[in-house]
Amino acid sequence: MDSGPALAGSTPPPAHAPGCVVGLDVGGTGMKGALLDHAMRSLETVRRPTPRADGPLAVVDAITDTLLTLTALAAERDLPVHHAGVVVPGIVDEGLQRAVWSANIGWRDLPLAALLTERTGLRVTLGHDVRAGGLAERAFGAARGARNVLFVAIGTGIAAALVCDGEPVSSGGYAGELGHVVVEPGGRPCACGGTGCLETVASATAVAAAYAERAGRPVAGAADVAALAADDDPLARAVWQRAADGLADALATATSMLAPESIVLGGGLAEAGDLLLDPVRAGLERRLTFQRPPALVRAELGDWAGCLGAGLAGWRATGHAPANRRTGVPAP
Ligand SMILES: [Zn+2]
Repeated sequence: MDSGPALAGSTPPPAHAPGCVVGLDVGGTGMKGALLDHAMRSLETVRRPTPRADGPLAVVDAITDTLLTLTALAAERDLPVHHAGVVVPGIVDEGLQRAVWSANIGWRDLPLAALLTERTGLRVTLGHDVRAGGLAERAFGAARGARNVLFVAIGTGIAAALVCDGEPVSSGGYAGELGHVVVEPGGRPCACGGTGCLETVASATAVAAAYAERAGRPVAGAADVAALAADDDPLARAVWQRAADGLADALATATSMLAPESIVLGGGLAEAGDLLLDPVRAGLERRLTFQRPPALVRAELGDWAGCLGAGLAGWRATGHAPANRRTGVPAP
């Protein structure tokens, strides 16, 4: 498509001018993209699978196609696309704009922002999926207004985003690996090469696997274990409590180190709501003595948080950051 390079040359918009940015969240299984106006309303959304089985270059092709699809949708509305925010999993160096590493997708030290600009003509800002989710929850979601936030995404793995004194902490892309804090010394082997990491106890994958092992029968996923625990199934309750204890251990350590005012739990496991939050909150309260107790809350933006955070980074890159409010929610 030819419209891309022309769009890249467009001048930054005045505040509240028409136009939009692209927010694109690339996950291990699927990607979610949206056109977002300056009020962060989603004008169009696109979902498609991530072809990770076909290798990292196929994933880059799919990201390119998705950006071009969204650009074409903007052109149909006569809207300039001022910028694209693209967020990916793994280790992402926002400073160098490189995708350093992803176990899921398989790329190594890829200058992804530059590659996507070359292919689409869009100005692209690369970010990390969980840090972007944390940014969005702090701007528009469960941690609105807090200056010190820990956002924890609990899904197939566990990762966290930190905001300290109002500033996101990245440390070259290596910060926030809460899933690899050891909570059961000498425990199960972790995909990272360590043992007893939080991820081996409290990720959605670990919860489902632990129940299947104890019960001697498979379950479809952690949501099934949550339903059984809510139904007072003793095995499910034990597995669930172990996950909550592991989370409370790791969050108590994080609270001692970072003193977040707000801890936001997101990702698939947090869909269980109070069934997860109540025992984690109780465990955290038991472990803290003099520390300032953080508010432990559930994420509000669901699985669109990463996409919204990507779009927010896109608007900020234009020099016209939207106000910290939002009037529309992307349709799933
Ligand atoms: Zn680990």
